[in-house]
Amino acid sequence: MAFAGLSERLQETFKKLRGKGKLTEEDVNQALREVRLALLEADVNFKVVRNFVNVVRQRATGQDVMASLTPAQQVVKIVHEELTALMGGQNARLELAPKPPTVVMLVGLQGSGKTTTVAKLANLLKKQGRRPLLVAADVYRPAAIKQLQVLGGQIDVPVFSMGEQDPVSIAGAALESTRKGGQDVVIIDTAGRLHINEELMVELERIKAGVQPHEILLVVDAMTGQDAVTVAESFHQRLVLDGVILTKLDGDTRGGAALSVRAVTGCPIKFVGIGEKLDALEPFHPNRMADRILG
Ligand code: GDP
Repeated sequence: MAFAGLSERLQETFKKLRGKGKLTEEDVNQALREVRLALLEADVNFKVVRNFVNVVRQRATGQDVMASLTPAQQVVKIVHEELTALMGGQNARLELAPKPPTVVMLVGLQGSGKTTTVAKLANLLKKQGRRPLLVAADVYRPAAIKQLQVLGGQIDVPVFSMGEQDPVSIAGAALESTRKGGQDVVIIDTAGRLHINEELMVELERIKAGVQPHEILLVVDAMTGQDAVTVAESFHQRLVLDGVILTKLDGDTRGGAALSVRAVTGCPIKFVGIGEKLDALEPFHPNRMADRILG
C-alpha cells in the first residue's frame, strides 16, 4: 500500500496528541518533530518538509488552537489542510482546447509507464465521450509502436503511426488526419530514454515547437521518490510542463514524489496511475490523498 509507513506514523503521533486533552506548546512541538521525521522517512524533499513544519507550527501554536476545546483535533485539521495545499489544493484538470483537437504530449523516461498511460488517458477521455487519437512518435523502439497499437486495439482507439520517420512530421501528419477522422483529442507518445539527455530534450522541444501542444504532461514513476522530482525539474526547465502524471501509486511508494513534486516544481499532479490495467488512471485529488494519509 502506498504511503503505509507515513500514514501509520502520523496516525500514531496524532493518537498520542488526542490522548492529552489540553495541549502545551511543547506537546505540539514534540508532535511536529515526529511529523518531520515521518515525512523525511517517506522521502519528501527536505526543504519541503522544513517549510511544511514551519507553517503548521505557526498555525497550530496560535491562541485560538491552544485555547480551543479540542486542540488536538485542530492540529490534525491544520495538518490535513497543509498537506492538501502542499499537493496543489484543488484537482488540476486536463485543459481541453476551446477549438478541437486538443493536443496532449506525454513525455517521460523509459519504464515510467508513459506508453501505458497514453492508452489509459485515451480510455478515460473516451468514457467521457471524447474521440481520442493516439500518435506513435516514439520511433526509436519499434516495439513501442507495436505496443501502442496493441493498447489502442484493446480500448478501440485509433493509433496513428508512420513507422520510423521524424517524430515532428508524424505528429504534424497525425494532427492533419483528425480533419478527416474527426478525433478531438490527440495524444502523442514521445520517445523516452533511460536517462535525461540532450538529444531527448532537443527532440521533445522540436515536437513542442512543431505542434504546439495544449498540454505537456510528464509521466513519472512514484516508486522512484526524489528521483521523480529531479526528473520533473529537468523536464520542466526545458519544456514548461502543464502537469505531472504519477504512476504506480498502487505499489508501496513511500509518498515522497506525491508530496514534493508540486512544491518543488510548481507543476500540479493531474492524474495518478493505480495499476497495470487500462482503466487504472484517476484524476488526482489532493484532499482525498490527505484523507488517505491521515486515515
Ligand atoms: P514506458 O517505457 O514509460 O512507455 O513504460 P510502459 O508504459 O511500457 O510501462 C512500464 C511498466 O509499468 C509496464 O509493465 C506497465 O504495465 C507498468 N505500469 C504503468 N503504469 C502503472 C501503474 O500505475 N501501476 C502499476 N502497477 N504498473 C504500471
